Amino acid sequence: MYNNDRNERGYGGGYNNRRNNNRYDNRGYNDRRNNRYDNNYRGGDNRMPMPKKKVAIPDLSGEEWKNKLKLPTKDTREQTEDVTATKGSDFEGFMLSRYLLAGIFEMGFEKPSPVQEECIPLIRMGKSVLARAKNGTGKTGAFAIPCLEGCKSEIKETQLLVLLPTRELALQTANVLKKLSKYLNLEIVTSTGGTNLKDDIIRLQAEVQIVVGTPGRLHDLNKQYYQKERVLKLDKCKMVVLDEADKLLSVDFLPAVENLIEATPSDRQLLLFSATFPSAIQEFKAKWLPSCEIVNLMDNLTLKGLTQYYAYVDENQKVHCLYALFRKIAINQCIIFCNSVNRVELLSRKISRLGFPCFYIHGQMGQEDRNRVFHNFRQGECRYLVCTDIFTRGIDIQTLNVVINFDFPRSANTYLHRIGRSGRFGHRGLAINFISNDDRYNLCKIETELNTEVDPIPAEIPREFY
Ligand code: ADP
Repeated sequence: MYNNDRNERGYGGGYNNRRNNNRYDNRGYNDRRNNRYDNNYRGGDNRMPMPKKKVAIPDLSGEEWKNKLKLPTKDTREQTEDVTATKGSDFEGFMLSRYLLAGIFEMGFEKPSPVQEECIPLIRMGKSVLARAKNGTGKTGAFAIPCLEGCKSEIKETQLLVLLPTRELALQTANVLKKLSKYLNLEIVTSTGGTNLKDDIIRLQAEVQIVVGTPGRLHDLNKQYYQKERVLKLDKCKMVVLDEADKLLSVDFLPAVENLIEATPSDRQLLLFSATFPSAIQEFKAKWLPSCEIVNLMDNLTLKGLTQYYAYVDENQKVHCLYALFRKIAINQCIIFCNSVNRVELLSRKISRLGFPCFYIHGQMGQEDRNRVFHNFRQGECRYLVCTDIFTRGIDIQTLNVVINFDFPRSANTYLHRIGRSGRFGHRGLAINFISNDDRYNLCKIETELNTEVDPIPAEIPREFY
């Protein structure tokens, strides 16, 4: 069906293709002529033990301290109530250090979002929290800000452990923590599977106040000994965050997560965040969080700001339909979800051949390639990204305005997380679902479960919707 002559259009370029007789360049790039390899990408993180870059700490004393900050240009796009309907608090009212406030303001955060407004004081008071809020409403800041305030650079041991279900999310979250703590002099290490274990062991020999990563690798490091000491020592770690908590409590992750929690002191603060909390979480809550504060900003789930459409399409018409969409709607950046690795690779080739260079990403790619694709897509080097559900959760790309479910997801949770990739921080976004005959029932089921309505796609989609 697909022409695999790599040289015909410049795909592949003979990476592992010739050796393995693979049909694809499995590096996540289609039409590599359009991709720049000469950027300053260096692995996306401080994976190699490199000397820490010194940040000049400004003198923030005096009344005029805010004038010394390097504030980003103001985002003037309209925002929905999801992020604006607050009680009117501001960051300065949370008793945060001026150096942390400087990091917050330099990130362009002016006012806390509702989830931040609720969670920051609770976490500052030392409470364990289970928080549920819509995708893209600032959950990362809601735990990162109070946890950073609770970390002390003069204490050498790890004080904060942040667990995430995917490697990309770990890198993204570590980046947010690094930016917010720019002037706090804290050492943050990211450790995920798919990278060299020895590098992580070396990096953890330093004084590391914050560790961010995926449970499997961190559990390995916690069991490992180096010169008779545990590589990842958690006995002084008094704050543990489970972001995308429901995913972390699934059978794949739970044993490693529980082992890690067990390695921390019994009076640790446990902070769980997600947009979805299935009832299965109750058992975990009873065991680990008997008395915690619950923040639920999803009682009335409204997918404000997100316009959802469906188009009935036969399987063999899907690519054609996608082509029509690409030509018709004003896509800033777009993620296209497929339900299998194979379909991701096939579709991305097809799209590129239609003249729309795209990236793709899935869990069977090497970590280096995954990091590179993630980084370059974030930098806006490509408009289209085709992916599996590896990218469903948490990934935050502000310029992304369209999500297309080329293959319709099977569960309401997956649907919610996928479409939440657009419309970040109260901005508008568009979700378009291709519905084949077999998906009809699922669409109704998901609409009912989420109490939302997905409309048929109109001939013209007004520009103000996304
Ligand atoms: P969630 O975890 O709820 O999906 P994120 O924490 O990734 O959402 O935040 C979504 C986006 O909103 C990010 O790009 C983040 O930088 C931005 N953001 C978060 N908090 C604020 C704030 N208080 N003001 C402005 N932008 C914010």
